[in-house]
Amino acid sequence: MPINQSDNFHTGAELDTDDRLTATHEVPEDRDNENSLRPKSIDEYVGQETVKENLSVFMKAAKARDEQLDHVLLHGPPGLGKTTLATIIAAELGVNIKVTSGPAIEKPGDLAAILITLGRKDILFIDEIHRLSRSIEEVLYPAMEDFVLDLMMGKGPSARSIRIPLQPFTLIGATTRAGQLTGPLRDRFGMLFRLELYTPEELASIVTRSAGILGTPITEEGAYEIARRSRGTPRLANRFLKRVRDFAEVKGNGIIDSGIADIALSSLDVDTLGLDAVDRRMLTAIIKHFGGGPVGLETLAAVIGEEAITLEDVYEPYLMQLGFINRTPRGRCVTPAAYEHLGIPFPGNGAKDTQQLLME
Ligand code: ADP
Repeated sequence: MPINQSDNFHTGAELDTDDRLTATHEVPEDRDNENSLRPKSIDEYVGQETVKENLSVFMKAAKARDEQLDHVLLHGPPGLGKTTLATIIAAELGVNIKVTSGPAIEKPGDLAAILITLGRKDILFIDEIHRLSRSIEEVLYPAMEDFVLDLMMGKGPSARSIRIPLQPFTLIGATTRAGQLTGPLRDRFGMLFRLELYTPEELASIVTRSAGILGTPITEEGAYEIARRSRGTPRLANRFLKRVRDFAEVKGNGIIDSGIADIALSSLDVDTLGLDAVDRRMLTAIIKHFGGGPVGLETLAAVIGEEAITLEDVYEPYLMQLGFINRTPRGRCVTPAAYEHLGIPFPGNGAKDTQQLLME
């Protein structure tokens, strides 16, 4: 199955200057062994059971009717396998896939040029689809609905619109922010799937599979240690595995066990639950400046010097999965479990001097 990337392909992630080990967007080192680690079939794709079950039914039905699959919107935090799932759908259906992204499509003509090259039942994957401009979205509407391109030729009184038929195709859109998609665009997707953060057990099976592909010996506990610290995110699990492998080869006996995984990840400042410095700063800021919350996201972002969007898309989902943060109508609150993890006594349990402890 050819994966055809437009020449000007970029994911927009390159614009991101965040190069922390725990950053969930793709960084250049993730691309080493990327092709071999990326699952190729739905059986190799771990977790996301409901999404897989539903998709399998719809793919079977489309195949039986010899029709293109309905348009699919995948949403969820970065690194959870949206691109991977799109390439698997193409492989399962035996069709070509073209991969591009919202920020890479600058003009309506860029999108038109891609659409006219799609064959019958082919897949167009647009990552970060919420970043498409309005004028480009408008090209997409008739293309998605009626498989036609409506183009305006010329300007002023001599302008005329021409209609070009397209092959029936499937659009797979991926976004970290489903809420930012315009209503008309969202309504044109027949299927909307939310990808969830992975459980440590699912991540351990991804780590074990990847270690097998890389030819690195790993114990069950070693895989679990990496999994537990990977913030529910396969991209991080694979990245951590490669870093721990280096430690095992240089400082250990080449085998990844829980001891070497702990030494490696601790020295890279990833704590026992996968929290990094920003997570800890976010939690302690809520405790220290806002008495544990509630605090509005924008205020919190200003206090810790991060973008509100980054906090919401990248940090919050995992802190919420851990049960460390609650979202209330009045803002974010830190839970007693987070106090415990940070080693700060929870006020109300007789520890009135929390503030003082934090000042020290
Ligand atoms: P996204 O598009 O959501 O940012 P990707 O599809 O690029 O994420 O996934 C990041 C990496 O994580 C992939 O290269 C793949 O190796 C791994 N991965 C993602 N999802 C899974 C999964 N369900 N099972 C195994 N590996 C996965």
